[in-house]
Amino acid sequence: MTDRAEDREGTRRRVLLIGLDGVPPEFLFDRMRPVMPNIRRLIGSGLRAPLRTSDPPVSVPAWPVMFTGVDPGTLGLYGFRHRKPGTYNTMYVPTSKDVPVPTLWQILSARGYRVGVIGMPLGYPAPAVQGVYISDFLTPAGVTDYIHPPELREELERKFGPYIFDVVFRSTEREHLFEELLRMTRLHFDVAEWLYGQEAWDVFAVHEIATDRLHHAYWKYFDPDHPKFVRGNRFENAAVDYYTALDESIGKLLRQVDDRTYVMVVSDHGSMAMNGCFCVNEWLEQQGYLVLKRPAPAPGTPLGKMEVDWHRTTAWGEGGYYARIFFNVRGREPQGVVPIGQLPNLRQQIARDLSAVIAPDGQPMGTRVLDPREIYQTVRGDAPDLIVYLGELKWRSAGSMGHPGLFLEENDSGPDDAVHSFDGVFLFHDPRYPVERTLPLLHIRDITPTILDLLGEHPPAHVQGSVIAGLRTEEPPVTGRPPAPGLVPAGSHP
Ligand SMILES: [Zn+2]
Repeated sequence: MTDRAEDREGTRRRVLLIGLDGVPPEFLFDRMRPVMPNIRRLIGSGLRAPLRTSDPPVSVPAWPVMFTGVDPGTLGLYGFRHRKPGTYNTMYVPTSKDVPVPTLWQILSARGYRVGVIGMPLGYPAPAVQGVYISDFLTPAGVTDYIHPPELREELERKFGPYIFDVVFRSTEREHLFEELLRMTRLHFDVAEWLYGQEAWDVFAVHEIATDRLHHAYWKYFDPDHPKFVRGNRFENAAVDYYTALDESIGKLLRQVDDRTYVMVVSDHGSMAMNGCFCVNEWLEQQGYLVLKRPAPAPGTPLGKMEVDWHRTTAWGEGGYYARIFFNVRGREPQGVVPIGQLPNLRQQIARDLSAVIAPDGQPMGTRVLDPREIYQTVRGDAPDLIVYLGELKWRSAGSMGHPGLFLEENDSGPDDAVHSFDGVFLFHDPRYPVERTLPLLHIRDITPTILDLLGEHPPAHVQGSVIAGLRTEEPPVTGRPPAPGLVPAGSHP
């Protein structure tokens, strides 16, 4: 047990972390600031910066990277779905058991800290921690092992009713969906408020998925830059209305925060308007990398339902916020045909061909091709052979087939207006050091070592991220400014 970060009064510092999924800096720090007085107070008395997400920029692996401090290759996590070994496209959704290194919550628990965690991915089944853990938005419907300790579930459901992990956001019933987003957010923060008051947690964290769902379902209604935006539409204020309500919930939780507690607001990636989709498998077929035994029966047919001639196929793709391209490697894939020695050529050839793709506006689409072996310290699990960003993420990858062309205006797996962007948010407030400052770009894998450092702990050797400098200050600054209202002034708490 190391000596802990104790202040002059010998009381331990604590951390409250609020994770808002998919929130871009321009939203939290600018566009929504006028309707978020509580966030505005934190901004006015804290440090803020864009937070570069992981490669790829998807909630999984982004949150697990944030809470382990290691890269996606080391985690073996590249998205929400991975192939079962020995199959081409039998997929599974990773769980908390698929995280191969200790998470921040487990590191802290092992060192005797008390942690309270609501919804942080990967959180199902709920991991055993010194404290409480409620699992995340990937929790399957109807399960009961979503909370640690298990005996807390009854009390939680008696108090708040059935727990809500996520909403069906790819829906056209947008009036109803909006109500559901508000209800889910209120529930998450009501539970957070209740749990937060249970004990003096060393680290308490709450994740909200609704922000991400709001972006995917309503972006074209509230973003004038979206190609389909129509002024005066009935959801034009959806973002303002949602963020106003979110801020109220955050404010209620912040009212419980004492001056020992550092407050951190983070997001795992940003969001922006979607241009449309690029049909990666249509393209691979056109280029001769993917060979089908017969054409798609209908537009939007998933590759898993297609008859692929694997003996003549060298590569295939997966849809999502980025394109995953896999090579049909001999000895690795069930019917692999590409000898290992030919992989460098195939990699170069596909990257070159992709860079020549012209978007519907007649301009080059612009692709960035990443090789997992070059960007990760280790490459575990079902890594794609190529990670491809289409138009710097503005084009989503559509894996389905049977489409008339290479580009779609709409997503192939249900309505979706937004894609992810590379920068999320980092907002940090120390009640003892209420100074407003903007920091340069930070990186998501630095959050775990930084939180450990705030508690006076050193990260385990396997952690790849580094401590964000300048957050832990024991000497309160001579600002002459009163602490921000609503946030407890130094030393006022018993
Ligand atoms: Zn996300």
